[in-house]
Amino acid sequence: MDHIYDDAVFKMACDQFQIIADYLNIDKNDREWATYPKRAVAVTLPVHMDDGSTKAFQGYRVQHHIALGPTKGGTRFAPNLSMGETAALAMWMSWKCALANLPYGGAKGGVAVDPSKLSKTELESVSRRYMQEMIPFVGPHTDIMGPDMGTNEQIMAWFMDTYSVYQGFAVNEIVTGKPVSVGGTEGRREATGRGVVYLIDRAMDMMKMDPAQTTAIVQGFGNVGAVAALSLAYKSGVKIVGLSDHTAAIYNPKGIDVIAAEKHVQKKGNLRAFDQDNHVDPNELLTMKCDILAPCAVDRVITEKNAGKLQCRILAEGANGPTTPDADRILDQRWNELFVIPDILCNAGGVIVSYFEWVQGLQSFMWTETEVTDKLFRILEHSFSIVIKRAKQDKVSHRTAAMAIGVERVIKAKNSRGLFP
Ligand code: NAD
Repeated sequence: MDHIYDDAVFKMACDQFQIIADYLNIDKNDREWATYPKRAVAVTLPVHMDDGSTKAFQGYRVQHHIALGPTKGGTRFAPNLSMGETAALAMWMSWKCALANLPYGGAKGGVAVDPSKLSKTELESVSRRYMQEMIPFVGPHTDIMGPDMGTNEQIMAWFMDTYSVYQGFAVNEIVTGKPVSVGGTEGRREATGRGVVYLIDRAMDMMKMDPAQTTAIVQGFGNVGAVAALSLAYKSGVKIVGLSDHTAAIYNPKGIDVIAAEKHVQKKGNLRAFDQDNHVDPNELLTMKCDILAPCAVDRVITEKNAGKLQCRILAEGANGPTTPDADRILDQRWNELFVIPDILCNAGGVIVSYFEWVQGLQSFMWTETEVTDKLFRILEHSFSIVIKRAKQDKVSHRTAAMAIGVERVIKAKNSRGLFP
């Protein structure tokens, strides 16, 4: 590869697409068209820092395709973010939205910055400047932003406010994942983690696993991982034996007090000083003994090096792209002992409830948390059952089945609309 998307994560997304394209026998003429983003924007964000200096941060936004409607996708604030990684995440969003039958193309964006190193004022300046630079390229019917790693409800509120100030009126539907006080929907914050656990429960059911006798390791303790761990422990009744974030990994076969971990993180910001007697090497955590493994942090953590050593029976991919294609080939051989819930199915709860939030914004409407969660579970149930059915019918992996359903829908829409001119 020799272009602006040149990056290992983009290559991984392309490799995954090629596997699906071969399996679906997609016409060679349609492949490049389906892979490369419709549009990619790079912006420089000059920001006054608290010490009086000015720093220029790099921001990105990639819109993958618009065959099904506007694009939709999260915003990542991470130190090494690149255009290629953003493009890969946008492509995965496309297949994810199509699998859930949402009227969206995929998008993703973000800023190459470590948000934990910024003061609140600096974070607000970076966030507002990012949205301001993106105003010509986004809109409630063009491209709708949401949260992702390193961003949160507060940042979405700043995005919404910045966009609205320029329009002269409140435009709630420009971003999702906002606080409920400014048009966010009940249940959005918890949606991704809740969805992950709904699907784990379905998988446990299929595999006749008793939750009371089941253990789990959750990697990542942010929006997705913390909700998933709490919900697994206190709703499903599973024992959490492993937890980690970017500062520490904890393993305790007797069970970890997840509420105490959450309180600790609220106070101290991370898990570094939590339960220090049970700290383990973070690289070892994923291969330690458990029944459910939920990677809910970064991409490419399950590789050809550790895929053969995973001891879990269910792999629930809360993160985007946690498993490389090389690791997938190993997992495919272990299909009868390891049930994979692939990322575009497993973490779809976030974008599904974002879609509800967008619809409520467009219609100035309000649904209760019960209505939202009920609708979420109905969509997830449908997606889960069509993926399992397709995998059984075509004797393919759950990932291949899930991606194939998404890719097919996108290609069908593109071909129906045709290539103009
Ligand atoms: P977040 O920023 O809220 O939390 C990320 C967590 O991962 C933090 O606890 C961080 O300390 C931890 N982490 C970072 N690097 C790590 C490492 N190397 N090892 C272990 N832990 C590490 O982010 P989030 O919103 O929870 O997103 C997590 C993943 O889920 C990402 O892959 C994201 O794309 C995906 N996702 C998020 C949503 C959403 O609604 N937020 C939706 C779908 C998918």
